[in-house]
Amino acid sequence: MNLPLEHTALAVVGAGPAGLCAAVEAARSGVPVVVLDENERAGGQLFKQVHRFFGSRRHGAGKRGYEIADDLIAECLRAGVDIRLGSSVIAFFPEGELMVDGPGGVYLVRPQAVVIATGASEKTIAFPGWTLPGIMGAGAAQTLVNVHGVLPGKRVLIAGAGNVGLIVSYQLLQAGADVVGIVEASHGVSGYEVHLDRVRREGVPIYPGHRIISARGRDGLEAVVVKDLRGGRTVLFEADSLCMAVGMSPMAELAAMRGCRMVFREELGGFLPWHDEKMRAGLQGVYVAGDAAGVEEASVAMEEGRMSGISAAEEMGSMKKRQAAARRAAVSRRLADLRRGPYGEARMAAKCSLYCA
Ligand SMILES: Cc1cc2nc3c(=O)[nH]c(=O)nc-3n(C[C@H](O)[C@H](O)[C@H](O)COP(=O)(O)OP(=O)(O)OC[C@H]3O[C@@H](n4cnc5c(N)ncnc54)[C@H](O)[C@@H]3O)c2cc1C
Repeated sequence: MNLPLEHTALAVVGAGPAGLCAAVEAARSGVPVVVLDENERAGGQLFKQVHRFFGSRRHGAGKRGYEIADDLIAECLRAGVDIRLGSSVIAFFPEGELMVDGPGGVYLVRPQAVVIATGASEKTIAFPGWTLPGIMGAGAAQTLVNVHGVLPGKRVLIAGAGNVGLIVSYQLLQAGADVVGIVEASHGVSGYEVHLDRVRREGVPIYPGHRIISARGRDGLEAVVVKDLRGGRTVLFEADSLCMAVGMSPMAELAAMRGCRMVFREELGGFLPWHDEKMRAGLQGVYVAGDAAGVEEASVAMEEGRMSGISAAEEMGSMKKRQAAARRAAVSRRLADLRRGPYGEARMAAKCSLYCA
């Protein structure tokens, strides 16, 4: 099979915050950059986020997720980045070629360097009845509501009281769903206070120490059976939708396909491609960034994206070593700031275990 072959300097897979920041950094130093994303819109997770982000102004605090995405897309376009949407990268061969399924058909790209910024996928839990219609990932529910304007159900139970569970609960409430509760297997709430307060104010009950046992229904979900882990009693929730917000895993199959070494770090979501502090994945011209390199947050994804773009530009000879070193040092400082606090420190330690020795 003879497929059309294209040459480029840097190919970035994924137009989320990590990929867009990688592209901007490299393109500004003169590297021709192509960004490939399977979605019809650029921005990754950000274009679904209608809530205001907090943190530092540099990372878009006070703006809604899709506004942060719009700013990054504008930066990319100003820097001359070629963003190709509806373009799924279906293979990354050990010889270094990418196979792309784009709007015009399948073709190959042979880049000098690749940044893999493909984000994360939602984890799930299995129990009797877990495949009933109406049971889905919280991210899928968020896409239905915020992108397509469709409620996943009228009475929704959420599994998981981390940030994603709390944010999606609030967005479902705003869209008119009745959130009947948030169940959480651990004995505390791991999401930020600010998100917890919002759902509490709306009167949503939270059930720490409760685990899902089974789901019931004929043609779709009708009820969820939950066990109180302290007392042992079971509770029945009538619900036509169950949204699972039980964590995410790095989506780095392309790195594995290329031959990168995969390592397991629980604090970062599971298996991820080994990488160093410059975001190099151990093979010439292969970089990783963002959730694909360990699940954290959009602000971290942006900084890791910048780091990978700087490293790629330097190794392709478009950025002087001294300039690259100075810019990387600034990014490292910002990453260290972002990884403060109990969760941040655990992630910092997990990252450090990859390369600090
Ligand atoms: C409900 C929810 C709320 C959140 N709220 C916040 C918040 O308030 N603050 C915060 O900092 N973070 C938040 N986050 C986390 C944040 O959205 C992510 O950490 C961030 O988007 C990760 O960026 P990324 O670029 O690594 O990946 P993503 O944003 O996931 O982008 C990855 C991109 O890669 C593309 N892609 C994947 N595979 C392929 C392929 N094979 N071919 C082509 N394209 C591909 C995808 O289409 C996607 O566009 C939230 C996440 C969720 C789910």
